[in-house]
Amino acid sequence: MNPSNSLEQKLLIIKDKISASKTNSVIRNRIKRIDLKKTREGLLKDKTFLIKDNIAIKDEPLTCASSILESYISPYNATVIDKIEFEGGVIIGQTNCDEFAMGSSSEFSIYGSVRNPFDHNLVAGGSSGGSAAAIAEDLSDIALGSDTGGSVRQPAAFCGIYGLKPSYGRISRYGLVAHASSFDTIGIMSKSIVDVYNTFCTISGQDHKDSTSVDIKVPKNPSFEDSKFPKSVGVVSDKILKNINIEIAGKYRQLVDYLKSKKVKIIEIDLPYFNYCIPAYYVLTMAEASSNLSRFDGVRYGNRANTKDLSELYIETRSKGFSDEVKRRIMTGTYVLSSGYYDAYFSKALKVRRLIKNGYSELFNKCENLLIPTTPELPFKLKNNLEDPLKMYLSDMFTVPINLAGIASLNIPAGFSSDNLPIGLQLVSNSFKEETLFSLAHILGEEEIFEAN
Ligand code: GLN
Repeated sequence: MNPSNSLEQKLLIIKDKISASKTNSVIRNRIKRIDLKKTREGLLKDKTFLIKDNIAIKDEPLTCASSILESYISPYNATVIDKIEFEGGVIIGQTNCDEFAMGSSSEFSIYGSVRNPFDHNLVAGGSSGGSAAAIAEDLSDIALGSDTGGSVRQPAAFCGIYGLKPSYGRISRYGLVAHASSFDTIGIMSKSIVDVYNTFCTISGQDHKDSTSVDIKVPKNPSFEDSKFPKSVGVVSDKILKNINIEIAGKYRQLVDYLKSKKVKIIEIDLPYFNYCIPAYYVLTMAEASSNLSRFDGVRYGNRANTKDLSELYIETRSKGFSDEVKRRIMTGTYVLSSGYYDAYFSKALKVRRLIKNGYSELFNKCENLLIPTTPELPFKLKNNLEDPLKMYLSDMFTVPINLAGIASLNIPAGFSSDNLPIGLQLVSNSFKEETLFSLAHILGEEEIFEAN
C-alpha cells in the first residue's frame, strides 16, 4: 500500500467513527474535501487534527459556538494551522465548545452539549470539551483547544487524555478568537505524549502577527531518550487534598509516593493566594472579554439584526446573538471597568495577579516542577451546574492560577475512579520550561503508577 493510500484508509475509518459518535464532539468534518495529493512530508506527517471552533481555518466556518457568528466564514488561517499543515498534519474538522470559550462544561453551545465518552449523562468538561471527547473516542490523533483558565486541562482530565497549556507567549494566538487576551493560550490534546510534543515543537515560536509571542528557542527533533526526573517537586498539603474528591486525592497521593520512591525531593507548598485566584481571574477575564467582544456588533462580523437605526441594530444584534453566560460576562466586565468601580475591582485584581505571579516565581526557586490536582471533582452530570454560575466557576480553582501566572501546565491521565471515570493531575513548570513537563510525563506514561480500583 502506498503512503497516501494508508492516509486515505485512516481517514475513511475516522469518518465512520465520527458518524457513529454519540458525544456531539465534532461539529464539522472536512474529510471529503481533503486533497490527499497536497499533504506534505514533515514531523506531523499524516497526523490528523481536530480544531476547536474558535481557531480560524481559511474558508471554513468560525462560529465560537455562538449564534452571532453562525454564518461567519474565516478568510484566513490561524498561524498554528499554517504551521501544522507545513509539517504534514491533516486538518480533518472542527469541534464543539462553550460559546466564546466561556464555560467549564461545553453546554453553552448553539450545537448542544458535548457528552462525556465514558458516560453520556456526564459533561466532557469545557470549554474545549469537543476536542477532549473526540480524542478520547479516537476520532483524531491530536486536537487543538484554547486555555484561558483551564479549558484544555479540565476537559482533558474529564476525558482521560493529555492536555497541554503552554506558557503565555509560547504559541502564536494569531487567528484564535480573543476571550481574555492576557490569559488566552492555544493548547494541545492527545492520547500520545509524543504527539503532543511534536505538535508543540511545530506550532511554538515567535510570530510577527502576535506581538505577545516570544522569541525563545524550542527544541527541534524531539527525543525522549534523555527524559529524567526533576530534582524537586512541590506538592499541595493534606488540607487541600481533604477538600477535594477522595478518589482524585488518592491518585494524587499515589503519584507523590511514586516520586518519593524515585528519590525526587518532595516539598510541601502553599498555592500562592489560592483563595483570591478565582475572584481575580473572573474580574480580569470578564473585563478583557467585555472589550474583546465589542467587535461583534452586527456591523463588522457575522449576523446582523434587521432594524431601522444604528443603535437599535447594535442592541438587537447583540441581544439576540449572545447567550446568557456571554451577556453576564460582558455586563460584569463593563461594570468592573466603569469609572466608579475601576479602582475597587479591576485595578485591585491586577495587583492581586502580580502577587500571584510573584508567588509562583518564588516557588520555582525551590521546586523544579509542581504537582497539582487538575479538578476538585470527577466529571459532573449534564445540567448540574447550569443554574449556578459560581459553582461552575469553582470547578476551575486549580487551573486558573496557572493562567494568572502565565506559566505552563500539562494534564496527565492518572487512572480511573471506582465508577470508571477518568482522573487527571497537573504537572506545572515555570514559563518556557515545558520540556521538563514532557520529560516527566513521558517517564510516568511508561510506568504502572496508579492502582486499579
Ligand atoms: N472555565 C473558565 C471560564 O469559563 C475557563 C475558560 C477557558 O479556559 N477558555 O472562564
